[in-house]
Amino acid sequence: MRVMLHACCGPCLIEPFDALVSEHDVTVCYANPNIHPLGEYQRRLQTLLDYADSRGIEVLEEPYDMVSWMRAVAGLEEDLSKRCKACFRLRLGMVADRAAALGYDAVATTLTVSPYQDPDSIRDAALAACEAAGIEYLDTDFRERYRDATQRSRELGMYRQNYCGCVLSDIEAQREREARRARRV
Ligand code: SF4
Repeated sequence: MRVMLHACCGPCLIEPFDALVSEHDVTVCYANPNIHPLGEYQRRLQTLLDYADSRGIEVLEEPYDMVSWMRAVAGLEEDLSKRCKACFRLRLGMVADRAAALGYDAVATTLTVSPYQDPDSIRDAALAACEAAGIEYLDTDFRERYRDATQRSRELGMYRQNYCGCVLSDIEAQREREARRARRV
């Protein structure tokens, strides 16, 4: 099958790509208007592109339209579960639309390699996005590969971010770090 793999960042691409490429023809799509600020978006993209170049992986990039992300999560800012599901739906919808337009057979995502993301929300969002676009969703769970992904990305010296991506997750991660520091003191 020709599969378009949504990738959130370079470190998360490593293991899902290897898992899929043995059976499918895989193109990567970077569709992440959630990432803030722009410099962080570009840093994650460049990390992914450097890795893709080293492996000869084809990468497409969707437009960095942060307003579309703000609209998608409007009113859900305080509800982490709903906010993230809306964020997944937006990004996977972009990939599903692009994949369908280019005649791909299916869509998958690297989001399921992270133990910090809710797999049910990802699946629900992906199924809705793929149904709307008229394309198959390749339902995968890569979480058992997370440890290997972490180790390999460290060995490669890849940039590894310390927050999920949006401005709200940056603030939340900073608060968590401060709380941990305070507990240690
Ligand atoms: S925390 Fe992550 S998944 Fe949730 S809205 Fe922010 S960027 Fe999207």
